[in-house]
Amino acid sequence: MNVVIVGCGAIGAAIAYELSQVKGLDITVLDKQPPAQASTKAALGVLVGIISQKTHGKAWLMRQLSMQRYETLIPELEEITARKIPFNRQGIVMLLCEHPQENNELENWQKLVRIRQSQGYQLEIWDRGTLKQNCPQIDEKQVMAAIYSPQDRQVDPTALTLALVDAAGDRGVNFKFGVNVLGMSSSHTTKNICQQLETTAGKITGDWFVIAAGLGSSPLLAQSHQLIEIRPVLGQAWHLRLKQPMGNGCFQPVITGNDVHIVPASGGDYWVGATVEFPPDCSDEIVPDKQLLESIKQQAIAFCPELANATVIRTWSGLRPRPHKRSAPVIDKLPGFSNVLLATGHYRNGILLAPATALVIREMIVS
Ligand SMILES: Cc1cc2nc3c(=O)[nH]c(=O)nc-3n(C[C@H](O)[C@H](O)[C@H](O)COP(=O)(O)OP(=O)(O)OC[C@H]3O[C@@H](n4cnc5c(N)ncnc54)[C@H](O)[C@@H]3O)c2cc1C
Repeated sequence: MNVVIVGCGAIGAAIAYELSQVKGLDITVLDKQPPAQASTKAALGVLVGIISQKTHGKAWLMRQLSMQRYETLIPELEEITARKIPFNRQGIVMLLCEHPQENNELENWQKLVRIRQSQGYQLEIWDRGTLKQNCPQIDEKQVMAAIYSPQDRQVDPTALTLALVDAAGDRGVNFKFGVNVLGMSSSHTTKNICQQLETTAGKITGDWFVIAAGLGSSPLLAQSHQLIEIRPVLGQAWHLRLKQPMGNGCFQPVITGNDVHIVPASGGDYWVGATVEFPPDCSDEIVPDKQLLESIKQQAIAFCPELANATVIRTWSGLRPRPHKRSAPVIDKLPGFSNVLLATGHYRNGILLAPATALVIREMIVS
């Protein structure tokens, strides 16, 4: 059976790798660019799983599935590819700031701690003293308390995606980069079955098609008359460098507060981001807001004053694929087609949800 996957970001690569373990599948991945570009290249790779506010339903199950799979996936990929994948196992520290209008915030967190305990996960509420002891780099006056989630993780999205591609390639997946998919071939779309894709490298046939093209998904589906609109949301971030790691060199969790992540990279390097910038109505053009970018850095400095002395290595930006008027992500059959699967619109959590998405798609194809 031939499976054609369109898109080789974190999602397409994860699907290719997961499917490569199924006997009897002939898998081709098409991308107009090299692997790990677009949204994936810009991501910080913070896996907000256990510390997320999702506690039930599909949103929680997908997070739980991904968090479980990551624990086996990273060592598996490292062994197959002999590549090192930066995977931070020191957890996430979420800083709770004073919000007078949200004075039951701490109560909500206490409730989440109880729920997670009943689900078999650990979350700790730290007072300022405990926070200072564990993370001396943080100006504790800025925060009311903190939540520590030791089982949450962060992964380098580019290293992950390249390892998935290598490992899938090892298992026989055929990758074709520099191939732009133009759409489903209308002359070969009978009843509810798509047989071919039109591409810049000619027609490509398949038994199954998986659309994992992020922001490129909507134009591909236009001719199916299914309006699945994926719109961009811009994110800007910083790469900062200190001479040495902040605080305790042996304890470098991701620190997050007021929707700003401070992500330890290596040595004294930190990624800090990201802005969340929506397009104006009726347009997909987003002009990066310099002030918002600056305010992200200032927030990080308020939490970790040492960052004021950091050298700016670079800033970058990327577009998150967000489904319009429906919840993220879109993992489903394309309505009207029995062999076209959508794995797109992962918005702010595509790196987190890549392993779970791949498992769900595998189930849809194999069952
Ligand atoms: C600044 C920023 C920070 C982020 N931080 C996090 C984070 O901390 N944690 C997290 O989980 N997520 C994060 N995200 C979100 C995450 O990056 C995305 O959800 C994820 O990368 C989506 O992956 P994807 O494979 O679906 O899309 P993409 O990475 O965009 O890949 C889509 C691929 O499809 C290809 N393509 C598109 N159209 C076509 C076509 N017609 N023909 C051929 N190929 C095509 C593109 O070339 C591209 O390679 C962040 C995003 C941004 C921008």
